[in-house]
Amino acid sequence: MYASVIVAISNKNVDRLFTYKIPEHLEDKIQPGSRVFVSFGPRMIQGFVVEVKNDTDLDPSKIKPIQKVMDVYPVLTKELIHLSKKLADYYVERHIKVIEAILPAALKMKSRSVLKLSDDASTIARETFKKFDDEKIDVKLLDMNDLKQLMPFINSKEIIEEKEFSQHTKKKTRRGIESNYLDIKPSSRAVKQIELLELVEESGPLTYEQIEEEGYSIGVINALVDNGFCKKIDILVERDPYEGRVFYQDEKKILTPEQQHAFDKIKKSIDDDTHETFLLHGITGSGKTEVYLQVIEEVLNRGENAIMMVPEIALTPQMVQRFKSRFGDDVAVIHSMLSHGERYDEWRKIREGRARISIGARSNVFAAFQNVGCIIIDEEHESTYKQNERPYYHARLVAKWRAEYYNCPLILGSATPSIESYARSEVGVYQRLELTERPTEQTVPTPEIVSMVKEREDGNTSIISRKLDMKIRDRISKDEQMILLLNRRGYANFLVCQNCGHVPMCPNCDISLTYHKSNNSLMCHYCAYEEPMPTKCGACGEHDLSLRGTGTQKIEEILRDTYNVDVVRMDIDTTRNKGAHEKLLSTFEKENIPILLGTQMIAKGLDFKNVTLVGVLNADTILNLPDFRANERTFQLLTQVSGRAGRGDVEGEVIFQTYNEDHYAIQFAKENDYRSFYLREMEYRKLARYSPYYFHVLFTISSEYQDRVIKAASDIHTVIQKDVSNRSILIGPSPSPIERIQNKYRFQIILKYKSEPELFKVLHELDNKYSKEYQKTQTSLRIDVDPEYIM
Ligand code: ADP
Ligand code: ZN
Repeated sequence: MYASVIVAISNKNVDRLFTYKIPEHLEDKIQPGSRVFVSFGPRMIQGFVVEVKNDTDLDPSKIKPIQKVMDVYPVLTKELIHLSKKLADYYVERHIKVIEAILPAALKMKSRSVLKLSDDASTIARETFKKFDDEKIDVKLLDMNDLKQLMPFINSKEIIEEKEFSQHTKKKTRRGIESNYLDIKPSSRAVKQIELLELVEESGPLTYEQIEEEGYSIGVINALVDNGFCKKIDILVERDPYEGRVFYQDEKKILTPEQQHAFDKIKKSIDDDTHETFLLHGITGSGKTEVYLQVIEEVLNRGENAIMMVPEIALTPQMVQRFKSRFGDDVAVIHSMLSHGERYDEWRKIREGRARISIGARSNVFAAFQNVGCIIIDEEHESTYKQNERPYYHARLVAKWRAEYYNCPLILGSATPSIESYARSEVGVYQRLELTERPTEQTVPTPEIVSMVKEREDGNTSIISRKLDMKIRDRISKDEQMILLLNRRGYANFLVCQNCGHVPMCPNCDISLTYHKSNNSLMCHYCAYEEPMPTKCGACGEHDLSLRGTGTQKIEEILRDTYNVDVVRMDIDTTRNKGAHEKLLSTFEKENIPILLGTQMIAKGLDFKNVTLVGVLNADTILNLPDFRANERTFQLLTQVSGRAGRGDVEGEVIFQTYNEDHYAIQFAKENDYRSFYLREMEYRKLARYSPYYFHVLFTISSEYQDRVIKAASDIHTVIQKDVSNRSILIGPSPSPIERIQNKYRFQIILKYKSEPELFKVLHELDNKYSKEYQKTQTSLRIDVDPEYIM
């Protein structure tokens, strides 16, 4: 027997299959998808078996044997092997790179598989096991006969396979306290201390986080410790970040007629075992999630699995809660903040069928189920579904291919579908299902537009218009809450010398530096370059520096000063740490903080009953970006954030502050009119010959040397021009919108095409050529098929 193996070296020259002999003692263990060790040249490396075959055309005496097999069960399914190849071809990528993206990173690291006895193993399982070892058996040391003996118990889960990572041997602990069980109690005046002590004595040791969640401050904890009632301890925590958490009960709802109609259509596709793509277009709060939940229930009843995609899981804690509440332990949560070990645990639950639904962001589209019954992509228009680094892929396309393979429905849900998806639903490629009403009493708020041009004319130079100011004061007086959005982090946008007009720029990138007050420094948002805030102008030496533009940090300060209230700020700078999102959101909700201020990360999925006002401080931040999707993104953001208002009993109000009050993206967002926006945007796309009228490929050429970039760009242009038909359009080469990032000059070429059967061959050749070229001249070519941003 022979195996075709793809080796784990990311080099274009070895981006093909190599044949190895399967030694007899490994014949039963090796299957397509197995992770193996093979000798390659002078070294031993990891590889993946893509195919097992009886014969080979090669000279058998020259074929090297596979050395080891790493796991009991193959890590890849046949479907995923096939998918990875298809993706590599489409996105001009090395096959191994895609395989590595599909698998959890833990499988790339030095790890070994071991077998251990489970707690409820039978006597006979134990006896068999003990023949090999008392504690754990290293899988790669087993031969076929050994495995034959063990396999029945592995299948019955009496013997379990585990991965051991060198860096995860240490168990995770958190700080906490335990009672010293003294006979005396804290003084009767220290009510909080008495309460907390009772809690700790009743429930056993608690972590600081748990105690804080119960509403006790760190001060109370310290007082108990200082007074000797409790002692500090380290508490072992489980790796499942959601384990042990109590989820509020989310009941199954009786569907509204619109929901029922959508559900019935999808159910039919499930019952008929046919693949179909549905576009579930429903306004915010129209009950899309309820439809997802009931569709998934259907799928589970048929013994199949469901993949649930969300744009970013840290931003959707409420969604995860609803799924956990309905489906309990059947849910695996794939989270970008998971450690390698945690992520691997979740992956295994899926691969071994212990979890039946996987919920997660982009990479969750690779969930290793063997029997997918539906794939759902919530907020399908979100740009986070496209991976912006190698390997490039769009989760929507991957989902489509997987759903085709499994003959199951793909459901794309959104209040503001991508122009591409809506266009497909217009021509019947996708089946569109509409939810136009909210099932609850809540009305959809009608936003108001405030022209900041007029504000300026009337002498108000503040970033907060008079109208918004009035409403903020009104909400504060009524104890209601509000969400304010400013899509720009940092304190001030840039620094300018009032004397000579000099603006400090990043030395590595063609972009001005942003002032951050917390560390009193200037920072580059592209390369993380940082320098201390200067005291005088770097160009003319005058001490006349002025901060211009406003970021979330400054607004936070203004809000606190002006209204004398607490503000929760959410942006990249306040949410870096694990769990920070959830914590900020729960503080906002539980402590009824009047204002949640943030960048676009607050626009998604939040459902707070007491929020009755949403204010967009500057609706133009995205509109002004040099990208053909700028209008679309503006419309989406405004619509989405509007949906956060009025989720409770009180009607919500929304205000958009803008300098472009007549722009159609802003006008149609105000009118809540997706369809009119779509039609208008399509006119522009047609005229400017952009997606969905054309497909795009973005070529970015970069190097530290400007002359090399220009030469390479012009060469590449020539190659493409020669190979594509004259119906396609080539734009460039021209400098990228940001000409230099991290000291590298950048040029771009945009290809727009409708049909180019030979194109992918050309792209692969170019990629080949430039991966070699890179080694010679450090000039790199990046080929982005279906780019999300043309920047
Ligand atoms: P979306 O995902 O479209 O934003 P959700 O599914 O979150 O909407 O629904 C919004 C609110 O309406 C939620 O509080 C949900 O519990 C409630 N809801 C959804 N469907 C129904 C229904 N059929 N009957 C009553 N309430 C519903
Ligand atoms: Zn920089």
